[in-house]
Parts: sequence; C-alpha cells; structure tokens
Amino acid sequence: MYIFKTAFSLFLKEIFVGHALTLKYFFKPKVTINYPYEKGPLSPRFRGEHALRRYANGEERCIACKLCEAICPAQAITIEAEERADGSRRTTKYDIDMLKCIYCGFCQEACPVDAIVEGPNFEFATETREELYYNKEKLLSNGDRFEYALSKNIELDIANR
Ligand code: SF4
Ligand code: SF4
Repeated sequence: MYIFKTAFSLFLKEIFVGHALTLKYFFKPKVTINYPYEKGPLSPRFRGEHALRRYANGEERCIACKLCEAICPAQAITIEAEERADGSRRTTKYDIDMLKCIYCGFCQEACPVDAIVEGPNFEFATETREELYYNKEKLLSNGDRFEYALSKNIELDIANR
C-alpha cells in the first residue's frame, strides 16, 4: 500500500486525473451561459416584475375592482379609485410595494381583465428601497414596455387558465 502511495505521489497521479477530467468536459456542451449577454429560456408562466396593461387603443385595462388588492397575501397592493365623467371606474392610485411582494401571482390570477400581470423582466434590482415602491405610472410604463411579451405569454398560457 505504501509503495502504491509513493508511486502515485512520484508520478503526480492527481495532476493527470485532473487533466483527464478537464479534457472530458472540454468537449461536452456548455451548461453555463455568458450572462448578461446571453439569457436562458423563460417559461410563459414566469412571475417577474409587475406591469399594468392597456388595451390597443391606449385605454387602461384596470377597472379598479380591487380584487388584486383583496387577494394579495402580502398586502402589497394599494388602490384608490373614482368614477370618471363617462361613468367608468378607474384607479387614481395603484401602488405595489415590491419589497413586500412574494411573487405568488395571485393578483394576476384574480384580475378579470388581465390588467395586472407579472412579466418576464427579472432585472429590476435597485440601489435604494424607495425605487421598489412602484406607482401606477411606473406599472403602466412597464406594461407599455413589455406589452408584446406579456400578450404573447398570456396567449401561450391559455390552456392552463
Ligand atoms: S404577486 Fe402576490 S404578493 Fe405580489 S402583489 Fe401580487 S398577489 Fe401580492
Ligand atoms: S388590476 Fe385587475 S384585479 Fe386589480 S383592480 Fe384592476 S381590474 Fe381589478
């Protein structure tokens, strides 16, 4: 036994084993990606940053029913609403405290008009807590920015709804 150990040490067995292992994985397909230049696939059900969507004519989808606010287990959503001159109900305030949010997706599921959704964006880290207190303007601008991906995801997920 002692002889084998000495022989292995003498001929640097570990170095050859290490090189062989490197060579083995060198020709295998890479499992890592060069993030942020490359990104992995995302499920259409991925629950990322929230957005408020509009109809194609620019009108807000949200009808201020407050179902999302009621169902939110983290109590992260705050809505205030009023009636417009034309009799429709719209929000005057729609805030989400993204620091409280647990990304459960209940708000999205409760919404009868697909207004509040969780989009594909997961790159919204900030330097301050205040930046994660989202207001209606921010949520609508997210909706405008990601509308193509959001509507596509809803379309792809239709079988699960
Ligand atoms: S994802 Fe869940 S926790 Fe976050 S705002 Fe929606 S309902 Fe609330
Ligand atoms: S986002 Fe949807 S669920 Fe929430 S208040 Fe608006 S319409 Fe109702």
